[in-house]
Amino acid sequence: MSNYIPTIGLEVHVEIKSKSKLFSDSANAYGMATNTSVNVIDLGYPGTLPTLNKEVIRQALRACKVLNCDITRKMHFDRKNYFYPDNSKNYQITQNRTPIGTNGYVEIEVDGVKKKIGISDIHIEEDTCKSAHRGSVSLLDFNRAGVPLIEIVTTPSISNGKEAMAYLTKLKEMLFYANISDCKMEEGSMRCDANVSISKTDVLGVRTETKNIGSIHNVGLAIEKEIERQEKVLETGGIIREETRRFDDKLGETILMRVKETGNDYRYFIEPDIPYLELTDEFINDSLKTLPLLPDELKKKYSEIGLSSLQIEKLINNRPSNDYFLGLLEFKTNYVTAVNLLLSDISSYLNKHNKVITDTHLSYEKLVSVVDALEKGELSNKNVKDLIDSLMERDLTLEELKKEFNIKNITDDSFIKDIITKVIENNSESVNDYKSGHDRALKYLMGQVMKETKGAVNPKKASDMLVKELNK
Ligand code: ADP
Ligand code: MG
Repeated sequence: MSNYIPTIGLEVHVEIKSKSKLFSDSANAYGMATNTSVNVIDLGYPGTLPTLNKEVIRQALRACKVLNCDITRKMHFDRKNYFYPDNSKNYQITQNRTPIGTNGYVEIEVDGVKKKIGISDIHIEEDTCKSAHRGSVSLLDFNRAGVPLIEIVTTPSISNGKEAMAYLTKLKEMLFYANISDCKMEEGSMRCDANVSISKTDVLGVRTETKNIGSIHNVGLAIEKEIERQEKVLETGGIIREETRRFDDKLGETILMRVKETGNDYRYFIEPDIPYLELTDEFINDSLKTLPLLPDELKKKYSEIGLSSLQIEKLINNRPSNDYFLGLLEFKTNYVTAVNLLLSDISSYLNKHNKVITDTHLSYEKLVSVVDALEKGELSNKNVKDLIDSLMERDLTLEELKKEFNIKNITDDSFIKDIITKVIENNSESVNDYKSGHDRALKYLMGQVMKETKGAVNPKKASDMLVKELNK
């Protein structure tokens, strides 16, 4: 039925990583016992004075850079006045008039098509306390009160659920990599409200806002369902009202929470307890200096050194291994082989023992010696598997470990050739199979060679020699 054009704008709240809260020195830590990271400022006691946490400004500046925003140099904070039990001051400190970042974008790719999603502004604000409803009582946890947030607001430039999901995935990936936030929707460190409207003309339709959707996947779903709902309403002669909705993931649809009356009047005014800020070049540059390479830059760098797209994806999704690998690039070695090791034997070891790579004894020098030995055929993959625990746990060099494990390098060509001759003599049936074109026979013969040498020869070398002998 539809030739309606959907338009979507997202408002995303992201909790900023910092030692302490935005305006107090209570710890900014997730998962502490309820109401244990709280002080008089977080509780909004009258007469207390907030002090701005500089580290949050630095983090917000990094977010501006990552999201390609213009930086506002002269800023102030505003009070947004409203009554609700999660807000004991009866106002929230936010940046209404002078958001720290404006006019940015995030580039997404959906089905091979690239698109820039505009960001109208990024502003800093404090989180409210967390409420939990149990039957007829509501419980409040003030650990979250005053946790620093940035709110990232897109322009109405998203066209469907898929694009919204791509945007959120990209946003999460970038902010996580930049160490700005954990961006875990399931823990609430990233929260998304979706504004949706449909129209048949260039004039945007009336929008609804669906709040607090629990996962990126559900944002996509909620948007598609809301578009369908609005189409049905309009097609049956109804009108869309400005309203706040929520997504019910069991029903798979958006549900009305409240109709927006005459527009909220938050009576914003300038927060008088926080001084105006004027950021210097020095402060801005100093804050941006610590930004690490982000996924797009990593992808480019890694494809230049010859990693496959699967390797790149796996590496980027494993932050500790990725950071370790970046350090390895200071050394000269075969990076493809190194990544294979990182993603196979090393990863299995780490998963099995629930460790991160920096907690092990695998120095770069040691890894390089293993990679080089594999390349030269002085070590087989089987040897690596045998040695892996010791490589990771002990402060011994590869040479020392090879001695201890009695691993001899079988690089002597005539020795390998003798074994090949023996295998060919003892397996005439398979040799005939190979000669009449059965590839499986070669695999079997190679298996015999590896067995005879207990895996101590370089498989590539042995296989080349075997084929040469068979083709004689
Ligand atoms: P408010 O602060 O009152 O919620 P904003 O103008 O800041 O309103 O917009 C909030 C979000 O709604 C932004 O992401 C914006 O892109 C989006 N938005 C605004 N108008 C529409 C519309 N007609 N359809 C869809 N999204 C919209
Ligand atoms: Mg809004």
